[in-house]
Amino acid sequence: MKHYDVAVIGGGHAGLEAATSAARMGAAVILLTMRKEDIGTLSCNPAIGGLGKGHLVREVDAMDGVMARIADRAGIQFRLLNRRKGPAVQGPRAQMDRDLYRKAAWELISTYPGLDLAFGEVEDLLGTKQRVTGVRLADGREVQAKTVVLTTGTFLRGTIHIGDECRQAGRWGDGAAHKLSASMERFGLKMGRLKTGTPPRIDANSIDWTFLEVQPGDDEPVMFSYLSDAPEAPQVSCAITHTNAITHRIIRENLGKSALYGGNITGVGPRYCPSIEDKIVRFADKESHQIFLEPEGLESSTVYPNGISTSLPEDVQLEYVRSIRGLENAQIIQPGYAVEYDYVDPRSLDSSLAVRSVDGLFLAGQINGTTGYEEAAAQGLVAGVNAALFVQGEKPVHFSRSDSYIGVMIDDLISKGVSEPYRMFTSRAEFRLSLRADNADQRLTPMAMQLGCAGLERVEAFTRRQAAYEAARETCESLRLSPTQLSRMCIHVRQDGQSRSVFSLLGQSDIDPNRLIAELPQIAAISAASLNQIKNDALYSQYTERQNRDADALKANAQMLLDSNLRYDTLGGLSAELSRKLQERRPANLAEASRIEGMTPAALTLLIAASRSVVRSHAG
Ligand code: FAD
Repeated sequence: MKHYDVAVIGGGHAGLEAATSAARMGAAVILLTMRKEDIGTLSCNPAIGGLGKGHLVREVDAMDGVMARIADRAGIQFRLLNRRKGPAVQGPRAQMDRDLYRKAAWELISTYPGLDLAFGEVEDLLGTKQRVTGVRLADGREVQAKTVVLTTGTFLRGTIHIGDECRQAGRWGDGAAHKLSASMERFGLKMGRLKTGTPPRIDANSIDWTFLEVQPGDDEPVMFSYLSDAPEAPQVSCAITHTNAITHRIIRENLGKSALYGGNITGVGPRYCPSIEDKIVRFADKESHQIFLEPEGLESSTVYPNGISTSLPEDVQLEYVRSIRGLENAQIIQPGYAVEYDYVDPRSLDSSLAVRSVDGLFLAGQINGTTGYEEAAAQGLVAGVNAALFVQGEKPVHFSRSDSYIGVMIDDLISKGVSEPYRMFTSRAEFRLSLRADNADQRLTPMAMQLGCAGLERVEAFTRRQAAYEAARETCESLRLSPTQLSRMCIHVRQDGQSRSVFSLLGQSDIDPNRLIAELPQIAAISAASLNQIKNDALYSQYTERQNRDADALKANAQMLLDSNLRYDTLGGLSAELSRKLQERRPANLAEASRIEGMTPAALTLLIAASRSVVRSHAG
């Protein structure tokens, strides 16, 4: 077989980004995955994006990655989440048609320049403990490569659990990868166990939709990719229903039969995507939980009931599903299940996602202890770019906490490790006012262009967009209006004789930008995209100074001692999760607190304030 620069193992979301980004950088790449059908498979919910996750998709797109474009082609319901909150925490999300997603992914990947595809199970890493030189497949084929990127998701020693039944599989309908884990252990990688779960799938024709609340998509869909204008597929609505007291009773009475609660699973699951069993136990006082009934595709009669993932036996699943409004006659097409798998302690990686102790070996995606397609894709991109740089003999590229959510995620993973599947939230970022979904291209596309990771179409589109933005911003900053002029436009400001720039006026939430557009032809001429971004920049320019000061204070106070008597459980503003962790571990100083998994910049700022007030009260 041909010798490659980069061999990517696994055709999931991390694998696609790793393979395509390395190929864009000019490396000779092979993508090896179990089956052709792997390309573009959505293992769990048919949706891309969401809070924090939508930011990652935009950042991957800004680096000319493929996820956003595939999602835009396959999206059947686009919604901007948190629309009523500030633009920094809004998250684009879209419901996918599973088949269209797979088709769009296949069309893109199978014709991608510089990328070969091969199918089969990889079971061995070749090389020495210090240097990987390729892989061996189960059928004996060997592939020589200067670098190997492992993106094997939930498949390493994957075990599916439904009640007390268990079988070896990476996900429903697939096998597991066994030997590769052993090979990785021989290379000195430290492994652990995690788990995740999925709900039963329901036949759409067996649902009574009559009285269910309908949830339509947005009238003006927000696309993921900077290169897309509008959805390609027809748009559909979802429906909403709820669990009730009967559902909760059935689940409570059968908890002992759940693989999770019956003690069959040792791996830790995602706190932020809890199973329905978890929700009933952890939020025992809640009388009802929301369920989104999401169609899996335009031609598909399968519905994904988002919110009831489970590892209870099939008969119990049917019983509790049928206790829910609209699902009284539901037919289950595929049962819910939990999957347990090996992951690698991400603290063995550096910020390029290279294994510190093995030259040429990179890891990305769920194998590093994350959960989610978007987290996987973002890591795939980083590993792919860095594998190509390694081959070129260039220095690795570093994504920082101040330039991207990608940087936040990688720093969290490699410095704190994980004890439960890691997912992205906007609260993890200390610079979230500047790390917005709307400006991902300004933050990252110049880096992609410099690295040679952006194709011509991307470069041209970005250059055009950026020129339009800069000209528009210049107009908004230089055009000034006096209070009298503004009053004539029915815009009321303090009559202080001071003229104000259109830029500063756009940053005031009590001023309707449509008034400025109606009265000023120069502003009316600006494209909606540029104006929206300038409005966001103006809004946050007042706060970014404070954000930067807070971030500097965190750095400067790293060694600040925390009061050993501090009652974290009574400290307002801390989440229950963090208050419990702090109360248990009682970190000696801020640096130690910052290394607690799940710690957020906002919580650290609270700790600084709390410790200062304790010092003051002692001094007083
Ligand atoms: P995957 O998408 O799993 O892709 C791995 C690929 O590697 C597969 O194509 C596989 O065939 C291939 N492969 C593995 N081993 C080998 C080998 N030895 N040789 C060749 N090819 C190999 N995410 C959420 O955000 N929320 C959820 O609630 C959620 N629930 C989930 C429930 C289940 C049951 C599963 C399976 C996943 C769930 N996910 C969830 C996770 C989401 O599917 C993953 O995070 C995402 O797919 C990870 O992407 P990846 O590229 O790392 O791995």
